[in-house]
Order: sequence, then C-alpha cells, then structure tokens
Amino acid sequence: MDISVKNNIKLKGKRVTVIGAARSGVAASELLLTLGAKVFLSDKNSSPGDNPEVKALQKKGVTIEVGAHSEMIYDTDLMVVSPGVPQNSDIIVTAKERDISVIGEVELASWFTELPIVAITGSNGKTTTTTIIAEMCQLSTYTPYLAGNVGIPFSQIVRENLETEPENGIYILEISSFQMEHIKHFTPHVAVLLNLTPDHLDRYISMEEYATAKMQILKNMTDKDKVIYNADDILLTSWIHTRARQIPFTLKNHSNSLFSINATKIKDKHGNIIAHFKDLSLPGEHNTANFLAASTVCKILNVPMDSIRKVMTTFRGVPHRIEHICSINEVDYYNDSKATNVESVNVALNSFSRPIILILGGRDKGGDFSKLIPHLTPNVKTILVIGETSDRIIETLGEQFYCMPVASLESAVKTAYSKTQPDDIVLLSPGCSSFDMFDNYEHRGEIFKQTVIELLESI
Ligand code: ADP
Repeated sequence: MDISVKNNIKLKGKRVTVIGAARSGVAASELLLTLGAKVFLSDKNSSPGDNPEVKALQKKGVTIEVGAHSEMIYDTDLMVVSPGVPQNSDIIVTAKERDISVIGEVELASWFTELPIVAITGSNGKTTTTTIIAEMCQLSTYTPYLAGNVGIPFSQIVRENLETEPENGIYILEISSFQMEHIKHFTPHVAVLLNLTPDHLDRYISMEEYATAKMQILKNMTDKDKVIYNADDILLTSWIHTRARQIPFTLKNHSNSLFSINATKIKDKHGNIIAHFKDLSLPGEHNTANFLAASTVCKILNVPMDSIRKVMTTFRGVPHRIEHICSINEVDYYNDSKATNVESVNVALNSFSRPIILILGGRDKGGDFSKLIPHLTPNVKTILVIGETSDRIIETLGEQFYCMPVASLESAVKTAYSKTQPDDIVLLSPGCSSFDMFDNYEHRGEIFKQTVIELLESI
C-alpha cells in the first residue's frame, strides 16, 4: 500500500494488521475500524483475550489472534505496531522484507487530524511537562487534548474528534522514543526536547540508536514549526538537526530564551517577574526546568501570562513523581515509583537536604548505578534493595553504602520504618523498571502508598 502522500491515504477496505493488543493497539484498531479498514489484531500473549475491550472489538468485526503471531499477520496492506515491539524484531524485519509498510499508532492517528500538535519528548520529565502545558492551555482559549504515552492513546482522541474537530483544539502529546521508531508523516507544530540521558539500553543497542529514535520527532518539521529545547543539556543539543525554528529554555543564561532566572525568580524577556522560586508549586531544579519548558511553549502559543503564572504556582504534580504520601513520627514518606532510571533517582536525591532511607531496585534496564554515588553521599544513610537488580546494586554500591536486600516492597517499608529517626525521609525511587514484581510503575507506587498508609493506621 502506498503511504507516501499523507492526504491520499485511504484505509477503507484495506487490510491492516495491528501488532499488540494493549492500550494503543486497541485504540488503533478502533480508529481503523471507524475508517472502514479490515482489522486483524494479533498479540503474542494470551491475556488480552480476556480483555473486555478486545472482546468488544471482535464483536465489531475485528479478527483477533492471541497467544502467538501466525503467518496471517503478513497478509496485509499495512502494519501498525505497538510501542512494545522492538524495531529489530523478527516481525518488523519480515514485514519490511515483504514490502509491507510499518507504522506506529501515533503516526496512524496523525494522518487523520488537522489540529496543531505539541509533542513533548526527552528521557525524563515528559509527563510532568505535558500535563503542565495542558493545564496552561486549559486556562486560555484553547481546548487541549492530553494524549500519547501519558494515558489516553492519540488514536482514541483523534477517533472521537473525527467528525468535527474543535476549532481551537490542540493536541498535547507525550511521546516516547518507541513511538517515534516508525514515523513517516508525523509533524508536530511545536516539539519539546527536555533532556537526553541513557535510558532503555535494554532495548537499544547504543545511546546513538536511542537518540536517533528520539530525534525522529524532528524529521518532518519545517521552518514554520518550532523546537523548544533544553540549552543546558549539551548531549541533547549535539543531536538537534532541524529546519524548524529553535527556541531554548535554560536554568543558566541564553540570549534567545524567552525567560531568564536569577537567584530568586523567573522573569520574561522584558524583565517582568513571572514567579518567585519560593512560590513554585513543585520542588527541585528539574521541575523549574519543566516549568520553563512549558512556559516557553505556552508563550509561543499566546497563552496569557496570567494563566502561565497561575499554573506555575498551583500545579499539584503528577502521582508517582516524588509524591508526598504522609508523615509518620516526623518522617516523610515519598513515592517516586516513576523514577525508572538512574538519572531520575539522582534528581529525587538532589531535591532533599535531609537524611534519606532509599528503596532502590527492580528489573534491570542496564543503568549505571555508580553514577548514583555522588548524589547518595551527602544524605543517604541506608539503601534497601529490592528485585532482580539487587545483586548488581550491592556489587556497585555495597562497599561505600549500607545496602540491605529485602524480599519485597512491603518488607522494605517495614524495615525502613524500623530504621527511621525524626526528620528522615523514606524515598521509593527505584531506578529500575517494575516488571519483575509488579504490573507497571503505577502498580508499584500504589502498593508502596497502600503499605505506608497501613503502617500509619497501625500506629
Ligand atoms: P517521564 O514521563 O519522562 O518519565 P515524569 O514527568 O513522569 O517523566 O517524571 C519521572 C521522573 O523523572 C520524576 O520522578 C523525576 O525524578 C524525574 N524528572 C522529572 N522531570 C525531570 C527533568 N526535567 N530532568 C530530569 N529528571 C526529571
């Protein structure tokens, strides 16, 4: 099937295979069905077979295959792959050998909307910044649609808006590197590049391969589009090659940035005070960077400065990101389950200047735990180690820090409690993915929160 000209693509009556029946695969199938395609949804796992949404698709005429991928997946005009399928997997290699066009769900959805797109990517801070931008836009004349990696798949909202797109609608999309692997026409009007640090090195052979996937976001952008980038991240800036207009944000100084900071406040280009640091609603320099990125986007979109200011001072944060749960005997418990790489753990550690009992570990993503050492040194008094990465963490950090393996997250909470003194912090910031013991990082965070609350109630 020829997909070279976006506006000529017609899916009515076309055979489309969707690989992966999780959230984005289900949403892609729904959109394809609405567009009149003949959809074949295939998942190598059996569990999606029990999902009521998958069953409902079957009733509407989608052919479903679970438990394994058969040869039938190649009997198609187009293949839409879930972000979970690596680009060098047999399926994608074989499909390409057979001249089948392979795209991702974000690419598919982008073919069927004319609304402007703001796309946010980076190794860390995507969900926070995406949510801040959406809240700022909400306090203006825009109707923002928050979608992508952050929760609701892009295809779902595009389908809901298919008949009539709101005049002042705007898509605010959180984009992961996986979602950019199969881009053909996807063109954000504004792209936000937050930072670039090693991540997902279990999936990408090298940092270069990871960065290349992320930078696909810029591929189709023209001089009418804008890239908002973190000028303080030297590695990131070395990867930016684009025809789009580049606008930096910075915690230092840059003559082209729209906002500047001094020791106490954020100002705009004309010297007007936007906010004092003490009034920002989220802690840590990383969140100041997120606010600056979001404010730069919203300034370009002509969101009123009062709306930008209001969100900077009232935004309550996103669950599982340095989320305060409660205090028990003057000890604060924080859930940072979303910290799935070493850099995020460092960011959390740098946000506090009190003694910390850190809960670290999970499934190995190939991160370098020795990079934690300078950030652990001032405050961390005990590391409670959980999950599959335990041995590697203890090997790397055990000589310099008191590391104690624990069997479960629940016992980590109890052990932490037995070791605390007033003014301590107990911080779950695992630096690893959650899949060795939990369904996902949200599940891990919820179990942590629940255990802490039970502890509070039992005292
Ligand atoms: P993402 O969606 O990219 O995973 P989140 O907004 O969910 O990012 O934040 C995840 C974790 O990343 C946070 O708990 C915090 O520790 C860290 N983080 C957030 N923003 C930044 C940033 N701008 N730079 C570095 N780390 C950050």
